[in-house]
Amino acid sequence: MPTFVYMTSCDGCGHCVDICPSDIMHIDTTYRRAYNIEPNMCWECYSCVKACPQNAIDCRGYADFAPLGHSVRALREEEKGTISWKIKFRNGSEKNFVSPIRTTDWGTIQSPADYAAPGAEEYRNQELAHEPDALNIEGGLPALAPEQLKQGVV
Ligand code: SF4
Ligand code: SF4
Repeated sequence: MPTFVYMTSCDGCGHCVDICPSDIMHIDTTYRRAYNIEPNMCWECYSCVKACPQNAIDCRGYADFAPLGHSVRALREEEKGTISWKIKFRNGSEKNFVSPIRTTDWGTIQSPADYAAPGAEEYRNQELAHEPDALNIEGGLPALAPEQLKQGVV
């Protein structure tokens, strides 16, 4: 399920409109409240949920961290540098946890033009561009050795 907006909480500030990578959060011109104009194009990326100062947007989480029928609330607190998550499951139980805000500082992301053009060796490499440096991992990406795999998989 994509995002939806609690109309009584939204104040029409437009932060969700600005941040949505799919450009589907719009402000209703009559009610001055935000709404998702194209739910089936929602990535469920949570950008708008975290950006909303009124905590007025809800969204279904991915099935890999919460099963169907749950609800997920995310509260971004800039001054604490945290995002607080509350997952409520169908049976009423809750899971609450806090993760750090990892937003990259504005203007610090290098554009592809800032990097040297890839050579023939890079094209043959299985790593993505600028890995592992861009992930701050020294000495190559971690990988399982054949003896660490389950028997019969190799
Ligand atoms: Fe846009 Fe992401 Fe919000 Fe969906 S979850 S409306 S894609 S910002
Ligand atoms: Fe409404 Fe929140 Fe969007 Fe602002 S960011 S317009 S309060 S839903």
